[in-house]
Amino acid sequence: MKPVPPAFHPISAMRKLLCVTAHPDDEAAGFGGTLLLYHERGVETSVICMTAGTAARNRGTASTNEELAAMRRAEFAASCKLLNVSYGEVLDYPDGGLDRADLTRAVGDLVARIRRLRPHVMLTFGPDGGVTGHIDHAMAGTFATLAFEWAGRPDRYPEQLQNGLAPHRAQKLYYHTADFSLPDRKPISQPTVTTRIEIGADRLEKKGQAFQQHATQTPLFERVRKNLGPRDGAAAEMYHLAATSRPRQAKFETDLFEDVIEDETR
Ligand SMILES: [Zn+2]
Repeated sequence: MKPVPPAFHPISAMRKLLCVTAHPDDEAAGFGGTLLLYHERGVETSVICMTAGTAARNRGTASTNEELAAMRRAEFAASCKLLNVSYGEVLDYPDGGLDRADLTRAVGDLVARIRRLRPHVMLTFGPDGGVTGHIDHAMAGTFATLAFEWAGRPDRYPEQLQNGLAPHRAQKLYYHTADFSLPDRKPISQPTVTTRIEIGADRLEKKGQAFQQHATQTPLFERVRKNLGPRDGAAAEMYHLAATSRPRQAKFETDLFEDVIEDETR
């Protein structure tokens, strides 16, 4: 992983994908196959995780929250390395408390990163909280949705623009979703599947290996493996296209970068 590009980082024509998550391990369990696939296609991928995951029931050998945070940050870095993520960052919002986090600050932190990283496409969770219905997922997605909308507006967080950042409009925003629901979970209403990414058996395997970098979460491996599929013999990650920078009709997609303009200057 490399450090955040400086404010005057020249905008490369390279296609870029930014994923916003809530906990270390979401990047693997929720988005791992997609991150692997688009890296192979020459896309620069980044992950911003809102919390260090210190509310986890499974705590490895950690005896304090600080120890657990350090361990989970290291696990996140190892997982991102396996997933070929170019830039990964864990923010310091409270795990299990994103619904009480300061909205202006949380969205502003994401807006600043969008203005630096300048992604074409963003991935996050919908307000349902993804297939698990986790409230932190719902809130990370809500903050990311506002950040997607506001990063391009000079009237939002104008103080960032005095520090060398420029407004940036990502072109597409996707929510993680599925065409199935998990048993034994609170009821959720999931965003419609508009986009199905076939990740294939090898990437499914590698995504499982990335999840296993989260050694503190070992007791969850079996359950997550069952949830991850493959279902009906196919390994896929599914998304809902929630917003686009250019108005369009709904259509079913198999590629997140369909209709993306690479060097669009805004
Ligand atoms: Zn999570």
